[in-house]
Amino acid sequence: KAEKPSHFIQNILRKDLDEGNVQGVVTRFPPEPNGYLHIGHAKSICLNFGVAKQFGGVCNLRFDDTNPEKESDEYVESIKRDVSWLGFEWDGDIRFTSDYFDQLHGWAVELIKAGKAYVCDLSPDQAREHRGTLTEPGKNSPYRDRSVEENLALFEQMRAGELEEGSCSLRAKIDMAAPNINLRDPVIYRIKKVRHHHTGDKWCIYPSYDFAHGQSDAIEGVTHSICTLEFEDHRPLYEWFIANLSVPAKPKQYEFARLNLNYTVTSKRKLRQLVDEHHVDGWDDPRMPTISGMRRRGYTAQSLRNFCERIGVTRSDSVVDVGMLEYCVRDDLDKRAPRAMCVLRPLKVTLTNYPDDKVERLIAPGHPNRDDLAERELPFAKTVFIDVEDFREEANKKYKRLVIGKRVRLRNAYVIEADEAVKNEAGEIVEVKARVIANTIGTDPEDGVKPKGVIHWVSAEEHIDCEVRLYDRLFNEESPGAGGTDFLAAINPESLQVLKGAKAEVSLRDAAPESAYQFEREGYFCLDAHYSKDGAVVFNRTISLRDSWAK
Ligand code: ATP
Ligand code: MG
Ligand code: MG
Repeated sequence: KAEKPSHFIQNILRKDLDEGNVQGVVTRFPPEPNGYLHIGHAKSICLNFGVAKQFGGVCNLRFDDTNPEKESDEYVESIKRDVSWLGFEWDGDIRFTSDYFDQLHGWAVELIKAGKAYVCDLSPDQAREHRGTLTEPGKNSPYRDRSVEENLALFEQMRAGELEEGSCSLRAKIDMAAPNINLRDPVIYRIKKVRHHHTGDKWCIYPSYDFAHGQSDAIEGVTHSICTLEFEDHRPLYEWFIANLSVPAKPKQYEFARLNLNYTVTSKRKLRQLVDEHHVDGWDDPRMPTISGMRRRGYTAQSLRNFCERIGVTRSDSVVDVGMLEYCVRDDLDKRAPRAMCVLRPLKVTLTNYPDDKVERLIAPGHPNRDDLAERELPFAKTVFIDVEDFREEANKKYKRLVIGKRVRLRNAYVIEADEAVKNEAGEIVEVKARVIANTIGTDPEDGVKPKGVIHWVSAEEHIDCEVRLYDRLFNEESPGAGGTDFLAAINPESLQVLKGAKAEVSLRDAAPESAYQFEREGYFCLDAHYSKDGAVVFNRTISLRDSWAK
């Protein structure tokens, strides 16, 4: 198989190693613990951990926890679980930007002493007004020329909790006329009298993302700090801090295009809203594009890694078709998933010529082309269930299922022929009477009248009662919320269909949560990790066999 050409990040790393610009590769994945990871994060994880591994380096997992209001340990734990599940190992212990608060504070003091930072008392509104616009330079703050001593004293008062939230902030003294607005004296510390999930009440001032990120990279010896394109305009500031502080290393920032998927939202804020307003059943609802939701639904780590490999890494923004993700999931599950039968909407079939108390134990392969998966035993007796969709009293030639007077093969079992539909008072079909055609296991009927097709079935005596959940896309529109509309208006009201009373074959008794099966003719399924409890058995449809959305 031809090797995929390198992407630009791989080219940069190879060059830096070849030219001796770095001794080894150190990357990091820096999530903020303010939500669960989504498919977009998977791209960043595969990239950061993937290139580190490819070039013999390491990748750190660093929680970028500088906004205490929205962060929590629940998110930290979920992120660790998701990164491990995706198949990656971080170097050493997990890290927290908050571990570096002492050092970051020291660097802020260093900037003040060098006359490169000042405490500014402008209100947020006034600061905005002083900042200028893309076409107009900003104006200097009246507090810009405070003395080093005054700044040190005020910053110490900020730290000690003696000043009110919003009353002042520490700003880097760079250039209010810089064409890049990020360089117009950015705020580097603000007062927030908020308890932090990791440092408790130790701090009431917190560094800005820009002040924390590059310096944290430097502390960890990160060589290549890879982030998404919206940080491109922040790179000069990243470099300004690295150049103006006594940092132990000189990391460099590189940007790539974030993943956008159609029919999906990949913004933690919007995902949180779906959870908080109960449009879904939690962050790991199987319809969510979160890693935990996709895992619960039955997507495999391999399929997500294959997807991230396939979409590539570039610097141009684009929207990836969610069909590509679904293709990767199907492709992996087809190779991996043991086969089984489950009747989603059962209809009883009585085989009138089959002995009352006879049970045959038929054998079916675990997978059509894998010997390593165990064979299944299918108990076959006088009554079976087939799907209501697989029987009609009359039908045209295109209907290759069971019809009165016609034959069909029960998968891995006999050919049967239907004689009669039994109806209730309302005229609904409640049972089919049919006959087994003798000696048809593995061969066609001796009289030469072939079955029209093959349908799945389950023994009426021995089976597992279960609930099946069928999922559809969570959004009906390609770009939910496009053009300033409310993204919630694009929610697909039929994204979840719950079928109670399904009947699954007995081999599924040992099914483990999240482990994939192909229910023949129905799709790929897995046991739901949350709803399957207290004797309840609930299967999620991971994905249908074919793309039902194809035009
Ligand atoms: P969101 O916009 O969903 O809140 P974020 O960028 O604020 O995401 P972080 O927790 O800061 O979330 O992200 C951690 C890392 O994942 C960052 O380096 C970020 O660039 C990357 N990342 C986030 N979303 C995507 C995406 N859609 N595609 C690629 N990388 C992403
Ligand atoms: Mg972020
Ligand atoms: Mg964010």
